[in-house]
Amino acid sequence: MKSILAFVLCLVCLGVSQAQVKPPTEPVMDRFLRYVKIDTQSQEDQTTTPSTRKQLNLANLLAKELTALGAQNVRVSEFGIVYATVPGNLADNSKVPVIGLIAHMDTSPAVSGENVNAIIHKNYQGGDIVLPKDPTQVITVAKNPVLKELIGDDIITADGTTLLGSDDKSGCAEIMTMIDILRQNPQIKHGTLAIAFTPDEEVGTGIEKFDVKGFGAKFAYTVDGEELGEISDETWSARTATVTFQGKSTHPGRAKGIMINAMYAIADYVNRFPHDMLPETTEGRVGFVHPYAGVIDVESSNVKILLRDFDISGLDAKEKVLRDMVTQTASKFPEVKITIDVKENYKNMKEALKNYPELTNNAMEAAKRAGLKPFLKPVRGGTDGSRLTFQGLPTPNLFTGGGNFHGKLEYNSRRGLEKSTETLVHLVQIFAEKS
Ligand SMILES: [Zn+2]
Repeated sequence: MKSILAFVLCLVCLGVSQAQVKPPTEPVMDRFLRYVKIDTQSQEDQTTTPSTRKQLNLANLLAKELTALGAQNVRVSEFGIVYATVPGNLADNSKVPVIGLIAHMDTSPAVSGENVNAIIHKNYQGGDIVLPKDPTQVITVAKNPVLKELIGDDIITADGTTLLGSDDKSGCAEIMTMIDILRQNPQIKHGTLAIAFTPDEEVGTGIEKFDVKGFGAKFAYTVDGEELGEISDETWSARTATVTFQGKSTHPGRAKGIMINAMYAIADYVNRFPHDMLPETTEGRVGFVHPYAGVIDVESSNVKILLRDFDISGLDAKEKVLRDMVTQTASKFPEVKITIDVKENYKNMKEALKNYPELTNNAMEAAKRAGLKPFLKPVRGGTDGSRLTFQGLPTPNLFTGGGNFHGKLEYNSRRGLEKSTETLVHLVQIFAEKS
């Protein structure tokens, strides 16, 4: 109740009178609690999209609910992507860019999302939160300093046996509730909105099937971040290197002077990785090289390496380190043929987003109007938005209010869901105001 009032008050700041504002037909928290009950876990290394059929259960439900909320052109693609359009309510909608809002429906393959039993820790008064079905699962204040800001809030967790699915059913529920609020309040002016809910974000394949042209947005936001106020317009630039060591195998009984064992060369190479340039020794804006998989064999060995940096120049420097290491190992093992192959994976979205500063600025403004303190946080990873940005759809990432994604300690809160929703309502309004 208190939070609905807060929402009304903020709209008052916008000049929309309190009497005119109606709450959504279903509170965002109720909607969220319904969605987390639907198991949508995705699965690695599948040949189909979606990777698991069960994701379609949520896709079909969202499509039905979008239609009920008055969205148009609602469709579920052959790949399980839900698309819809929310028509603008301006005299001339063509003057405002079509803004896209995207969330993903799947949950991480890391932890089960079956039979999620959401627990509401009402009126949280501080301290560690022990999850009832597995007391070894504890959300501690020490590791989650953000808990201090959740005092008095209703915190939502799973029961300790599954993940919650806040990532990213929070984003799904928040976008849907925004549509609900806009429908209830035609006095809130906005341009045309393009909506999408995607499968298989967690396994990185859903977005490959995304129809950017058919989506029809000029700009978009993924609603898939964490802490309230956190906005991301920077991600890694990413490459993958494969270094192959070609030796010569022969029967060990007759190997003298013939066998060339590639294993010694790969061991030498892996030993040369600079200790201060690894994921386990870096944080913040510092990039890394990460040997993550390989094959060792007499005849042919190889190692696969991730290269990550926020700057292309930093990525180039890391690639040079790996190539120099090849030269050093090659001079020590001249009979082993060593080759290095480097592939581009994705680029820091900032490379493209720097040309559209209004996307970040409008999101910051929307969060402020919702009473939050927005801040920029670079993502030490890639997002669906990084791929969309380089397919011509600039797409920063917005917070959802949740945290501890991909694990049993995942959470969100009533205020987290409501403030994130409120931010979306402000955001679409700001684009209409500024156009
Ligand atoms: Zn996510």
